[in-house]
Amino acid sequence: MAAGAVDDHGVILERLQEVTPSHSPQAVEEAIVSAVKRLLAHHHAEAVGIGAAGWVDNSQAVVAFSPHLAWRAEPLKARLSQRIDLPLIVDNDANAAAWAEYRFGAGHGSSVMVCLTLGTGIGGGLVIGGQLFRGTYGMAGEWGHMISVPDGHWCECGNRGCWEQYASGNALVREARALARTNSPVAYRLMEIVGGDPDKITGPDLTAAAIAGEPTAVELLFDVGTWLGRGIANLAAALDPEVVVIGGGVSAAGDLLLLPAQRAFRRTLTGRGFRPEARLVLAHFRNDAGLIGAADLARRSIVEPPESGRFGFWPRRKKRKVRPRMRERRARAPLFGR
Ligand SMILES: [Zn+2]
Repeated sequence: MAAGAVDDHGVILERLQEVTPSHSPQAVEEAIVSAVKRLLAHHHAEAVGIGAAGWVDNSQAVVAFSPHLAWRAEPLKARLSQRIDLPLIVDNDANAAAWAEYRFGAGHGSSVMVCLTLGTGIGGGLVIGGQLFRGTYGMAGEWGHMISVPDGHWCECGNRGCWEQYASGNALVREARALARTNSPVAYRLMEIVGGDPDKITGPDLTAAAIAGEPTAVELLFDVGTWLGRGIANLAAALDPEVVVIGGGVSAAGDLLLLPAQRAFRRTLTGRGFRPEARLVLAHFRNDAGLIGAADLARRSIVEPPESGRFGFWPRRKKRKVRPRMRERRARAPLFGR
């Protein structure tokens, strides 16, 4: 668990890191409260934002389910609000990371931004017109579980062939281990790195080996990048984003991941050659995106509280002002052709 005091420019003033006690919701709650109190001893804070690794409902209050922690229908906001006397919001950690990239990072100011966090799976966040899009029930952005390969690898979600089984850190490691177990000479150098035990191959090992020029690690990252690009082309067909931000542990591979992703994206994109293309870029923030995003969402919730929460939209004041101007502009714009 990372905690920090963050100013309104997204700069972390102080940072704390603790091992998350995953076994019980009470222990997690205790850890959060203790971290907040330690930070409040040195900083004047106006709000607290929690980026939770789980499905958060659209009232930004309840963690419906967490794959890695013991939260099940956990009323996290209510519990924490009893012990922390500040305005408080809870959001999904991938949403928080996406928000940080939109506000202060690689997707700053874009019209439609897709953010992908590549770790054990694919975390997703979507910002449309300056608003974090959460969907009707807060579950938007789970595109790691779109079926990419019918009857493909099993996924923790209970389906087969999900995108994240091919384009994530877990996919990279699974493929490397499988190759190493074949005893193929192309995997000998990887085996040397981990002392001969295929099960000891990790994502950071592979990234480091690829950056050092080890050809098999480069190939494995190329494959993950290719799957990534194909999936992003699917997302572009649905969402037509301006920018796709790629973050998470695997993105440390930089161009070794990005270049094959861009190539596969261009090769797969619907309408290629006849349309502008989304930019695929690496995330600006590494591990701190969730922290910075959660803080900014909390700060924003007290400046501009959400209207109803159901659709996760902020007040529509700005939109109403903009619409007539847009119409005027269209009326004034010269008409070409057609
Ligand atoms: Zn799945």
